[in-house]
Amino acid sequence: MLETARRQLSRAAAHVDIDPNVVERLEHAKQVHEVTIPIELDDGTVEVFTGYRAQHDSVRGPHKGGLRYHPEVTRDECVGLGMWMTWKCAVMDLPFGGAKGGVAVNPKRLSRDEKERLTRRFAQEIRDVIGPHEDIPAPDMGTDPQTMAWFMDAYSMQEGETAPGVVTGKPPLVGGSEGREEAPGRSVAIVTRAMCDHYDWPLADTTVAVQGYGSVGGNAARLLDEWGATIVAVSDVNGAMYDPDGIDTTSVPLHDEEPEAVTDTAEQVISNETLLELDVDVLIPAALGNVLTAENAADVRADLVVEGANGPTTSRADEILAERGVPVLPDILANAGGVTVSYFEWLQDINRRTWSRERVNEELETEVLSAWRAVRDERERHDVTWRDAAYVVALQRVAEAHEIRGLWP
Ligand code: NAD
Repeated sequence: MLETARRQLSRAAAHVDIDPNVVERLEHAKQVHEVTIPIELDDGTVEVFTGYRAQHDSVRGPHKGGLRYHPEVTRDECVGLGMWMTWKCAVMDLPFGGAKGGVAVNPKRLSRDEKERLTRRFAQEIRDVIGPHEDIPAPDMGTDPQTMAWFMDAYSMQEGETAPGVVTGKPPLVGGSEGREEAPGRSVAIVTRAMCDHYDWPLADTTVAVQGYGSVGGNAARLLDEWGATIVAVSDVNGAMYDPDGIDTTSVPLHDEEPEAVTDTAEQVISNETLLELDVDVLIPAALGNVLTAENAADVRADLVVEGANGPTTSRADEILAERGVPVLPDILANAGGVTVSYFEWLQDINRRTWSRERVNEELETEVLSAWRAVRDERERHDVTWRDAAYVVALQRVAEAHEIRGLWP
C-alpha cells in the first residue's frame, strides 16, 4: 500500500514544478502514533490490542481520515492510506490534510460491549493528538456510525463539553449529516454524468454495469437510473443480475436493506467476473479493490471505467486500459462524496447548525463538479490520464501550500 502510494506520488511529481524537498517530505507521514489498548473481555480476561493513527500532512488544515477495525491493520498501511487521504481532500479542495488509523482486531470476534470498550479506550489513548481542529476520524472498514458516537462521547466526556466535530459519520441525532450515507454513491453518479457529457454520450443512450450494490454501488446505480441511464447489471457477493433492457433499480434492495438481495431477486444471474467484461458504455466497480487486473483488463469492453470502490484497478490493469484508450476516472475523485459530506458534517458541528438534505446534495454537486473540471483541465494541459491529472491537481495544491508557508523554523 505504502509503496503504491509513493509510486503514485513520484508519477504526479514528474508533472509538477515543485521543490524536490517538498516531495521528499510528502513521502513520509508527519507523525505516526502507536498505542496499546487493553480491554476486559466479557469472560473477564484482559486482551491487549494495538492501535495506530498515522497523520500524513496538515498543511491545508486538520487531518482527516477513517478508523478501521481489521486484523490486518498495520503501521505502513495507515501511512499509505493517510497519504491517499491527503490527495483525496486536496483534489476536492477541502481544507483538510490526510490521516488514517485503526486497530488490529477482528471486530466480528467482539461483542457489542467489547467493541464499545475498545472504542472508548482507543479514543482515550489517542485523545491528545485528535480533536475538531487537529485530526477528525471517520468510519471505515469494521467501524460504523455507532462506533463514531461512542468515540465522540468518550472524547467529549474528557473535554468536559460535547464536541461533535471530533469525528464525522455519526448518526444524525448526535451531529451526523443528512445525506452522508449515500454521498459516495452520489459523487460517483455525478462524475459519471459529467464524463458522459464530456464524451457527448446522452445519458439516455448510455448503458452501465455496476459491481456491488451497497452504499456506493447501489446509490450510484439508483441515481444514474433516475437520471435516464440504462443499468444493465448490478451485483452482490454471489453474482450479478443482468438485464440488457435495463433493471428497475428501486425494486432491488440495497445491501444494508437486505444483504445479497441482488442475486436472490434476479431472473438472470451472471458471475461477477462476467459483469466486468460486459459490452457496456460505463463500468463502475464499486465493491472491492483489485478487481481489474493484468488478467482481465484486456477483456474489459466498457468505454469508460469509473472507480466507485477504493483501488479497484491494479497498476498493471491501469496501464493496459490506458494503452487501449479506455479512460479510468479515479477513486480519489469519484467516491470523494463521502469525505466531502464529512466536511459538511464538521462545518455543521462546529457552527451548531443543521443543513437540510437538499442543501447537502446541492453543495455536494457544486464541489464535485468543480473538482471534476479542475481535473479535466489538468488532463488537457498535460495530456495525461484522468488518474494522473487528479493526482497532479492534488499534489500541486498541497505542494504550493508547503512552499508558500515555508519550512519552520
Ligand atoms: P457495502 O458493504 O455497503 O456494499 C458492498 C457491496 O459489494 C455489497 O453489495 C456486497 O454484496 C458486494 N460485494 C462484497 N463482496 C463482493 C465480491 N467478492 N464480489 C462482488 N461484490 C461483492 O460497501 P460500500 O460502503 O458500498 O463500499 C464499497 C467500496 O467503496 C469499498 O471499496 C469501500 O472502501 C469504498 N468506499 C466506501 C465509502 C463509504 O463511505 N461507504 C466511501 C468511499 C469508498
